[in-house]
Amino acid sequence: MSEAIKYGPAKLLPGDQLHITASADTEPFWEAAREQRLTACQCADCGHFRMPPTPVCPECSSFRKAWPTLPGTGTVFSFAICNRNPVTGEPYVYVPVVVDLDGAPGARLISNVTGCDADDVEIGMKVSVEWTPINEGWILPNFRKV
Ligand SMILES: [Zn+2]
Repeated sequence: MSEAIKYGPAKLLPGDQLHITASADTEPFWEAAREQRLTACQCADCGHFRMPPTPVCPECSSFRKAWPTLPGTGTVFSFAICNRNPVTGEPYVYVPVVVDLDGAPGARLISNVTGCDADDVEIGMKVSVEWTPINEGWILPNFRKV
């Protein structure tokens, strides 16, 4: 029987290594993030949430979108533990998570979590948004264990 691996603190990816590419469909999300406001794409006609944002609502085919301000909290739906920096290849522990966003039923955001050991992340864990400056003046939403 082997010892369980201990990964230690879950770090956020270094902001100076991160770049985003915004499109017409995703730019409102990133503009809101720049104001440290968490949002998700919602159909302005039927209210269906969809992340990632797409041009057309899959429920009612509307092109109209809304970007409501969400509470900034959520629940870990899924996660992985990574132990290499994806840019440098050096040992680096970070935890990509899929978060069910409070206030936006059906909307999930892929992000990273911190504020605990990677070993302690679990499905169903409550998290709260925090903001990380990245390149080109954008701000990335990450999550912290509450
Ligand atoms: Zn719709």
